[in-house]
Amino acid sequence: MICMETGRIPADNPPATGTPMEYRRFGKTDEMISVLTLGGMRFAHGWNPPRQHLPRASVENAMDTVRRALAAGINHIETAHGYMKSEHLFGLVLDELKVPRTRYKMMTKGAPMTADETRRLVEEQLEALRLDHVDFYGWHGINNEERLAASCKPGGPVETLHRLREEGLIRHVGFSTHAPLNILMKAIETDLFSFVNLHYYYFFQHNLPAVKLAGSKDMGILIISPNDKGGQLWDTSQKVKDLCAPLTPIQFNGRFCLSHPEVTTLTLGMHAPEHFTSNLAMLNGETYFSPDDLEIKNRMDAPLGSLSTQCTYCTECLPCPEGINIPEVLRFRNMLVAWDMRRFGKYRYNMLGLMDHWFPGEYASRCTECGDCLPRCPEKLEIPRLLKETHHRLFDPKAFWVNKAKSLASPAWNRLKKWFGAQ
Ligand code: SF4
Ligand code: SF4
Repeated sequence: MICMETGRIPADNPPATGTPMEYRRFGKTDEMISVLTLGGMRFAHGWNPPRQHLPRASVENAMDTVRRALAAGINHIETAHGYMKSEHLFGLVLDELKVPRTRYKMMTKGAPMTADETRRLVEEQLEALRLDHVDFYGWHGINNEERLAASCKPGGPVETLHRLREEGLIRHVGFSTHAPLNILMKAIETDLFSFVNLHYYYFFQHNLPAVKLAGSKDMGILIISPNDKGGQLWDTSQKVKDLCAPLTPIQFNGRFCLSHPEVTTLTLGMHAPEHFTSNLAMLNGETYFSPDDLEIKNRMDAPLGSLSTQCTYCTECLPCPEGINIPEVLRFRNMLVAWDMRRFGKYRYNMLGLMDHWFPGEYASRCTECGDCLPRCPEKLEIPRLLKETHHRLFDPKAFWVNKAKSLASPAWNRLKKWFGAQ
């Protein structure tokens, strides 16, 4: 059914959803990869340490997921050292399924801080993956100025990744980022990378200049988490569902992302049969957007366009002396007021400040009404009032404490504890 050399499904033998998989060139890497990527961060019990211990439920889940992905024509797998068991699961499953190495491209990521650590980490990752090389290695999380400087310093981790590339352990070097746009642009401008993993989707279009810049430099672009960080689209508001009909919100957003020729692929943490059904439905025979899809986009745009207190995410109001991430808080307000997206707003707002550099910023309740931000806002928004209102509508003490407990158990927290000598 699948051509094991190209990973393509013959036109007369499409996957169950009916539309054949599509492939795009991953920028200057010159590799053809599927527009949907199998992301590996959500397997059953996948986050429970130790990383090498693979419970049967995790293995069965990964096995079933990989089989489905291959059957759908997906030829790109994305994982990271930071995803606990994920690399070990892929290593075991791809080995046991005897998947030919030519059948898939493997991307992994890591955030080593020194040259020695980089070599050690990549060797450990290859061992976990049971591979002699990875196709794509992304420095994981160029999220702020410090991490940009640390990763790209002369003789540092990225330089070492390029040495490993020359040695054949890595085929292409890139980076992933959750950074503000200015840092993201700087990282692209280093010209050290062949691809970038970034956030860009319908409900967060602020990174469009980075998409354009990366495209102009012929970099491959992978969109991170279009369904989850993109709005928890599998369970969004009735209003969004109605506006997107007859498409699902997942289809609409996926097609929006793929309508950008610079975008190569969307990574999706699929780990259940229904995830394949909903995500494969994005495929549209390489037509993004059709006139019908454009009509849906116009309908979706209208509620935000008519919002008189819309924050345009221009970021002119920053910095706030209290460390409030004003544009992000007001983006959640835009989504809440324009599209009734309360569930997503609560999910993200109650994570603020708990994820270190992955999602920085203080709660809006910290606003002292100092007024510093007011003259800088071109929309003349009453920022303190809007922040207060948003906090009132989205802060959820129960969700906060659940997220706090999770963050205390996370690898990032453990690393922090190590750095500060607390263990
Ligand atoms: S008014 Fe509030 S949000 Fe604006 S700068 Fe002052 S503390 Fe920050
Ligand atoms: S300056 Fe105004 S419009 Fe711009 S991000 Fe800040 S609050 Fe939003």
